[in-house]
Amino acid sequence: KEKLLLIRIKKDLLNLINYLKKQQLITGYNDSLYEKKIEVENMNEHLMVLSNTDKLTNIPNRRYFHHRLDEIIFEYEKTQKPFSLMMMDIDHFKRVNDRYGHQIGDQVLIQVAAILSENLPENAVVARYGGEEFVVLLPGMSENDAMATAEILKDSIEYAHWDSVNRMTISAGIATFTEDDDSYSIITKADQALYLSKERGRNCATHFNMVSS
Ligand code: GH3
Ligand code: MG
Ligand code: MG
Repeated sequence: KEKLLLIRIKKDLLNLINYLKKQQLITGYNDSLYEKKIEVENMNEHLMVLSNTDKLTNIPNRRYFHHRLDEIIFEYEKTQKPFSLMMMDIDHFKRVNDRYGHQIGDQVLIQVAAILSENLPENAVVARYGGEEFVVLLPGMSENDAMATAEILKDSIEYAHWDSVNRMTISAGIATFTEDDDSYSIITKADQALYLSKERGRNCATHFNMVSS
């Protein structure tokens, strides 16, 4: 009888040991799964940043800008909090490429992006819209604030010290969002205002309200 009992205890002990071994294995799996999960999450985060960043200038790109514009319009519809949008286009940029070559042109684009980023008001977002065009989202800003910001940014380019060229200027077009606008119309309005700045002789800022009146 005692022998039988001993055999049972031995069997139970073996089962227990096997169970503990399996548990340990599972814990190990869980640990490495957790590490993999963190790794994938970091990779995703990295990819997200990459897909929203302009490769040349390292500032946000057009894709990110559209994403933020949709967000800010969504917020406007809930709260009516004002905001403006500014399109900026470097003046006579083609001349830089023609005179100094494409690589110097690229250096100027990088520097323009850096200067705009440095002089941006809090909460504002600057993105490279394409080529030598930049777009700035100005949350909370109506016409006057947006125009004042445009002057600051325009001046920061005009009075910058350039590494490889003598002087650069930039023109701006601003539109303030109204309840009749959507993401398409506000960009069109800022574009029209920018066009007027070019017509007025460049190195200046124009609000869409000056276009329509
Ligand atoms: P405006 O004052 O009317 O804006 O004249 P502009 O010469 O700046 O305008 P235009 O549209 O005629 O020329 C823009 C130039 O920008 C042409 C294009 O080759 C150049 N460009 C666009 N993207 C890049 C880029 O990534 N690198 C360089 N180096 N040049 C670029
Ligand atoms: Mg252009
Ligand atoms: Mg230009």
